[in-house]
Amino acid sequence: MITRPSARRIRIQGVVQGVGFRPYVYRSAREHQLTGWVANDGRGVEIHVEGAGPALDAFVGGLAAGAPPAARIQAIDVTETPCEAWEAFEIRESHVAERPTTRISPDLPVCDACRRELFDPADRRRSYPYINCTDCGPRYSIIRSLPYDRPRTTMADWTMCEACAREYRDPADRRFHAQPVACPQCGPHYALMTDGAADAQAGRDAGAIAGAARLLREGRIVAIKGVGGYHLACDAADAAAVETLRERKFRKEQAFAVMVRDLAAARATCALTPEAEALLLSPASPIVLAPRRLDLPGVAPDNADLGVMLPYAPVHHLLFAHGAPDRIVLTSGNRSSEPIAFDDADAFSRLHGLADAFLAGERPIARRVDDSVMRAGALGPVVLRRSRGLAPAVVATLPVRSPVLALGGDLKNTLTLVVAGQACTSQHVGDLRHYDARVAFRQTADDLMAMYGVDWNEVLVVHDAHPQYVSTAAAAELPASRRLAVQHHRAHVASVLAERAAIDRRVVGVVLDGTGFGDDGTIWGGELFVGSIVGGFERVAHLRPARLPGGDAAAQHPVQAAAGFLEAVPDLPDFAGPPFHFPERYRRARQLSLRAIRSFGTTSAGRLFDTVAAVAGFVRPIAFEGQAAMWLEHLARQESSAVSYPMTFDGGQIDWRPALEAAVADRLAGRSPARIARAFHRGLARGLASAITSLLEQFGLDTAAVSGGVAQNDLLLADLREALAPSGAELWINHAVPANDGGLSLGQAALAVTAADAA
Ligand code: ZN
Ligand code: ZN
Ligand code: FE
Repeated sequence: MITRPSARRIRIQGVVQGVGFRPYVYRSAREHQLTGWVANDGRGVEIHVEGAGPALDAFVGGLAAGAPPAARIQAIDVTETPCEAWEAFEIRESHVAERPTTRISPDLPVCDACRRELFDPADRRRSYPYINCTDCGPRYSIIRSLPYDRPRTTMADWTMCEACAREYRDPADRRFHAQPVACPQCGPHYALMTDGAADAQAGRDAGAIAGAARLLREGRIVAIKGVGGYHLACDAADAAAVETLRERKFRKEQAFAVMVRDLAAARATCALTPEAEALLLSPASPIVLAPRRLDLPGVAPDNADLGVMLPYAPVHHLLFAHGAPDRIVLTSGNRSSEPIAFDDADAFSRLHGLADAFLAGERPIARRVDDSVMRAGALGPVVLRRSRGLAPAVVATLPVRSPVLALGGDLKNTLTLVVAGQACTSQHVGDLRHYDARVAFRQTADDLMAMYGVDWNEVLVVHDAHPQYVSTAAAAELPASRRLAVQHHRAHVASVLAERAAIDRRVVGVVLDGTGFGDDGTIWGGELFVGSIVGGFERVAHLRPARLPGGDAAAQHPVQAAAGFLEAVPDLPDFAGPPFHFPERYRRARQLSLRAIRSFGTTSAGRLFDTVAAVAGFVRPIAFEGQAAMWLEHLARQESSAVSYPMTFDGGQIDWRPALEAAVADRLAGRSPARIARAFHRGLARGLASAITSLLEQFGLDTAAVSGGVAQNDLLLADLREALAPSGAELWINHAVPANDGGLSLGQAALAVTAADAA
């Protein structure tokens, strides 16, 4: 019996470009003796195959399972189509059709095959720091525009040699259409720069890297160009080098991340659960926060956790192979909290004086992409900073036809563009108070719009309701005709639901945050809502309001927040004396608060944490956002007793006064700060749980969605889960975007769904 050939047209959407998808399809079609073609277009990958029916079925059935590791398939659509009598199977060139909805792949860590070649003395790319293939290497950080083809990347200036071109053209080769493909003969190089000139003696690539490794061993600070920007590196075990780095960088206290030689070194450095190891080894190759096992003086002061990451770029692997210390501090190349430097000239001028030498690579970086930060938390994996390896990516599917661009908040800024219902969240842009971050903000907005072919005339721009936010002013300046303001904390709740595509799910939304502009103009941050993304969120309860002398500026000084919150507590001791030793600022802030001068109302959970931290002994100004609350969390982890402070819920307010009273009394009685910290965490969790339980019952709901910067506190989440357990309530948190303001843009976009499609 003769089977008549038939044909199928297959459309695949998801991350399928720049990840070796077409060569994979080519090989698979040939294995099944099918003919036809495969092509990239603006919407993904399209395949035409023809041949015997059973072979077609086998080909289609195995498509998803055998896909390259970096591919993320979202949808496979198969239709019958007439035979076109193709005699062979071929790969067609990219063509741009309508609006591109293709996902751009994030940057990928070097793959095992490339790593083997990197250390194979016989390979022509041995020790070559720009080795890559279709399974690995840079993507987003080198793309200037779409579709993803070499002339539109930062590799456009290098012409492939004959050997590289052959691999690039050969569908059977691992480097078929690997856009950044290069070798030592034709590609860019690394050099070691000291005093503004390349170190000729060191030579390039391996020699330069060996020179940098030697400097690190000698306790020097080296600026190293990576995938998304420059890092500053030093030996993490060399306390003097770490101290020098802190002084030069004006970064007194915030923890440094450490890159370790390999997984064994990671295990020796931090206590890693299987979940934490899985994050370390994931394609994003992020910084993973985990309890530290090793004391590295000065690396993460006052912190029980340490951020570790594995080498991800070839240059990192080469550094360790050429004798770099097993653990190197690898912190973003900047001063203080400025954005990371990624442009060479900018890096040389800004990092001059910070670094003793530069390990500089020639391949330009198209945009700044910081390292991502994650944790295997009590309630599952969480993202603290979404950047390299994770962005850009579709983080949610929203039922909206018109495009939406959400601008996020002013701190930890990210943007989210929704096209054809796909919500794509940008990399971490940072703190918009910095000029460089504002430039990056605008570039990211333009990037997203251009990459997805969205016109400013058709997009709805969403921004925070804060009238003084930089992003609010930016919204007014963007050439869009439609704008929508969204309240900060409602966006936080919506971000949790958007991740799960739970658009009409009614929940109790809990936001534990530092600051944010409330409906009544006061500073919110301890809010309970009831509602859904489509129906909106009604504020039904909140923390008991306190006075906040100095307003948002009080966030820098825990004792300033304490002056406002403690005012509500009767019979206060003299906080200037022992054991509290509050500085003069407390007394002045208290005067302001009592006389109601420059004082604002607040329900901020962040400021409540600051107050308890001050009572427990944190009386200095903070060096970075959230420091006092983190300090309190780590203190609490040292206490194993079941202590808890009372907090009551009266139907509308969670009253923290009994807890503060108990904390002050405990400190006066000489009880340990760790005990105070522990009792406060558990007390707040129980107070929240009683509020949540009562609201769930009142409104006939079963799910609580928790978000906000303070909700990054893993101990508080664990306590909350425990306190909620008897009620059987579901507890949802963020997993795809940060609970901090880095997730705000997704929530803003979700809340704009109804408005966007309204005429
Ligand atoms: Zn590779
Ligand atoms: Zn070459
Ligand atoms: Fe916030």
